[in-house]
Amino acid sequence: MNENARIVIVGAGHAGGTAAALLRQHGHTGPIELIGEEPWVPYQRPPLSKAYLKDQADAEALKLRPDAFYAEQDITLRLGTRAQSIDRDGRRVALQGGGEARYDVLILATGSSNRKLDLPGAKPGDVLELRSLADAERLKRALGPGRTLAIIGGGYIGLEAAASARALGAEATVIELAPRVLARVACPELSAFFEAYHRGRGVEILTGSEVREVGYAKDRLSAVRLGDGRWVECDAVLAGVGAAACAKLARDCALDCDVGVVVDAVGRTSDPAIWAIGDVTFRPMAHYGHRRHRLESVPAAVEQARQTTAAILGLPAPAHEVPWFWSDQYDLKLQIAGIPFEADQRVVRGDIGAAKFAIFHLNAGRIVSVEAVNCPPEFMAGRQLIGQARAVDAAKLADPKVSMRDVAL
Ligand code: FAD
Repeated sequence: MNENARIVIVGAGHAGGTAAALLRQHGHTGPIELIGEEPWVPYQRPPLSKAYLKDQADAEALKLRPDAFYAEQDITLRLGTRAQSIDRDGRRVALQGGGEARYDVLILATGSSNRKLDLPGAKPGDVLELRSLADAERLKRALGPGRTLAIIGGGYIGLEAAASARALGAEATVIELAPRVLARVACPELSAFFEAYHRGRGVEILTGSEVREVGYAKDRLSAVRLGDGRWVECDAVLAGVGAAACAKLARDCALDCDVGVVVDAVGRTSDPAIWAIGDVTFRPMAHYGHRRHRLESVPAAVEQARQTTAAILGLPAPAHEVPWFWSDQYDLKLQIAGIPFEADQRVVRGDIGAAKFAIFHLNAGRIVSVEAVNCPPEFMAGRQLIGQARAVDAAKLADPKVSMRDVAL
């Protein structure tokens, strides 16, 4: 690629911010423009449900890089600016409120957006959500001693918010439609463990329950009504019911899309001038026969930013990483590596009762995923074994006395 090529990145989040920095780090000298709808420089979202919500980190600590970095690196920031549409023939991005950004290379890094719940009775803005700093600020104001938070959705964000609410002295009720929390993302043993752990810390967990309506007393939100007619009292409601790729820009200009923007292993879309990275993509998973998947995780966003910037600049491709994810709740560190595609065996290592264990998912004798609670060595070794696709001895794997070094066949 021409070293003076004009690179435009839409989405100033984790993936977009990382890509802009890497392009300069790898020596790109042409113009780089980073367009973001939010008013802030790229920041980390994971603390929004954890340290930031608990007031243990401020907004400054969340920034990926200090404000001055972008001017120093000659990266043009257009914040508070939404990209409206893409003219692929003219290689132009139209911006909300007028104006445009011309590109030779366009990187889409628009992330995902929360699924909305349209609850009867709810006044606009009264059902809180959590994706941005502004959302976290609003939620933080609703928490504190004596307050009660009803959380719709027992996924990671819902459970992390419940743990943070408890740390701030608030009461929390998690209302989950599925028969167990984390139903879409974790195995039944892990769901049962997290339910028990939360209940042990005063969180009410209602599974198989649906919120049907929001109720008010004296004009203040005061309760939610469940499918069985029961009212659950609360001062605030948080919806954490999943997210979808922000792929509208891509769909509107007829790029190939599925549940996200379809990309190849290095982020190329169906238009050679347009690349996509992060939550918005539907990408091939190198360690799983290149089967496509959509990941919502920081490590995936960073890995794709590395892969894509190297490919754009014609540099050697970095090795593909085994996907991983983490969640912090109370004193628990959950680390997950891999994806349990077609797992046919589960092996538990360690002591679930002591909150120190790892659950391995195997397919034909090989580890395809590991869910580790307060067990970093098992997580690290598991991740490595997934990457190596080596068969393991399940009996040895189940025995914590056998070192993880000795479980491979
Ligand atoms: P984002 O960081 O979401 O950035 C996308 C940006 O694009 C946004 O700023 C958005 O406003 C902007 N945008 C969208 N459309 C437009 C447009 N048309 N024009 C201009 N700008 C646009 N991951 C983990 O690995 N571990 C965790 O513990 C974890 N915790 C999380 C907790 C919370 C509360 C949330 C919300 C997410 C968490 N995640 C976690 C997920 C992680 O934050 C995301 O996977 C990661 O931010 C993805 O990066 P991204 O750049 O693809 O998207």
